[in-house]
Amino acid sequence: MRQLVVNFHGIGEPPQEIPDDERPYWCPRDEWLGLADALADLHAERQPRITFDDGNASDVEEALPALLERGLTATFFVCAGRIGFPHYLDDEALHHLRSHGMRIGSHGWDHIDLRTLDAARLRHETEGSRERLAEHGVDEFALPFGSYDRRVLRSLEPYRHVHTSDGGATRDGWLVPRTSYVRGWTADGLTRLVTEQPPAWKVAMRQGKTLLKSLR
Ligand SMILES: [Zn+2]
Repeated sequence: MRQLVVNFHGIGEPPQEIPDDERPYWCPRDEWLGLADALADLHAERQPRITFDDGNASDVEEALPALLERGLTATFFVCAGRIGFPHYLDDEALHHLRSHGMRIGSHGWDHIDLRTLDAARLRHETEGSRERLAEHGVDEFALPFGSYDRRVLRSLEPYRHVHTSDGGATRDGWLVPRTSYVRGWTADGLTRLVTEQPPAWKVAMRQGKTLLKSLR
């Protein structure tokens, strides 16, 4: 089945230190509740998957209660190097999420474009973050900024799945395309995104782009 993975970042008002270019990815609380309702309506038939990136404190404060009220689960990709920092999740929060049936994944260590790193730094981001997060049962990775090349993917081979931001639907491959929320999404738009079959040329173009990136 064609399955969409819908990705969110922070929910509610972004803390002051969040840079301007990241603010459009923060979802206002009332918008999030409407989108969560739409995801719950779609759940039985389409089973869209839900992920959250960056490990913001709003994952437990805003996202979790709405997910639980609607019987939904999600995977939370956290940066190992930000655990316990102000406005980010700490280890206790990660245990709390897991105790409610949520999954934890790695979003690297320092939230950096992995293509720019030497071998030692790359290993720290991929293997190092996995070791740091081992107690939280981590076996999936989400690429910071969605960026990757062949070398980055090779270093991520020990993971069960690697999540991109390439858009489009997943077919249960190792590389999982995701569609990220940006400000202004409506519940109707989300429903169309999940239920509509995109034209074949669009699917082929997305797959071609992903292939090119993984060969680079
Ligand atoms: Zn991120």
